[in-house]
Amino acid sequence: MRIGILGGGQLARMMALAGYPLGLDFTVLCPAEDACAAPLADHICARFDDQSALHELAGKTDLITYEFENVPAESVDLLNANNAVYPPTRALMLGRDRLLEKNLFNELGIRTAPFAAVDSLADLEQAVKTVGRPAILKSRTEGYDGKGQQLIREDTVLADAWQANGGAAAILEGFVPFSREVSIIAVRSRSGEMAFYPLSENIHLDGILRLSRGLDHDPMQSQAEGHARRLLAHLDYVGVLAIEFFEHQGELLVNEYAPRVHNSGHWTIEGAETSQFENHLRAIIGLPLGPTNLYGRALMINLIGEIPAAQDVLVLPGAHLHLYGKRPRPGRKVGHITLHGENEERFALQLDHVRKLPGVSGI
Ligand code: AMP
Repeated sequence: MRIGILGGGQLARMMALAGYPLGLDFTVLCPAEDACAAPLADHICARFDDQSALHELAGKTDLITYEFENVPAESVDLLNANNAVYPPTRALMLGRDRLLEKNLFNELGIRTAPFAAVDSLADLEQAVKTVGRPAILKSRTEGYDGKGQQLIREDTVLADAWQANGGAAAILEGFVPFSREVSIIAVRSRSGEMAFYPLSENIHLDGILRLSRGLDHDPMQSQAEGHARRLLAHLDYVGVLAIEFFEHQGELLVNEYAPRVHNSGHWTIEGAETSQFENHLRAIIGLPLGPTNLYGRALMINLIGEIPAAQDVLVLPGAHLHLYGKRPRPGRKVGHITLHGENEERFALQLDHVRKLPGVSGI
């Protein structure tokens, strides 16, 4: 069976790595000539709105998935007309618009930070009155890793913030003084079977995920699973979905969901019996899902902008290195390290060692 993937980045690459043992082949559509999934797949090098490339992808593959949200809607419609596309288009469309996404959560009885739609400076002035300060102005679409966001402090001049935002349709969201950030990786198969990974605790710096740790038996697990279960069922979802939460005063507030495999689930490659990538593929093909339990302790650290020497990582027992084949550039995710082990003391020592490596600084 040949799977088509929209996008050829590291998520597509890790999906292919998980898919080969299942006998799957891959074709990726990605405009970047040096797409990092390209060495592992047949690569159609074209824009996501290139009609003939989309027809080629549809013709070559048995079903199609994607590794990022900002695929043009018309392209997904074109693919949908001929092939099964998972996760479902509705999940993609709602998930990439912060306003629709937050409205959906509230409809499902899942709490979010207070928010208001902002389409003009006048809306922003009104929204600040209801949401309060501090708050974050976030563009409705195409924002990720903290991009397209303006912090509204007590002294921020609203006209400046609106200008910095470029006048794009936005939401104003109350700033949550969270105690921690967690996410859940959930998966639902074509038969409706669901599975949930142990929560990840996530550390972001400047809006970019830096570290995720799998949490065994966390007290927030059942709350997160309940929210994920409702969302998956409502969307008639197929595939892996990640939901990011703020924990605040013993309650989970949703930040956002991603209708795809997710950076906070990379620890599952070594840390769980079945990785998020394998379970995504099992789900979309219609195979039984694999167990999601955490083995021992597992923690993932992103490598940003720099690549450490492999021997400096692998000298640690239990350390695993994943390089994405990308040229390092400031701010670019070029790989990750997973630490996996049983003994907490040794685990903490290893983390201290890793923190000093190039690409890891600041956490
Ligand atoms: P996002 O692009 O919405 O995923 O935001 C990136 C990161 O910015 C989050 O993981 C948080 O660390 C921080 N952040 C976003 N929204 C809020 C908020 N309403 N309150 C506090 N921190 C936030």
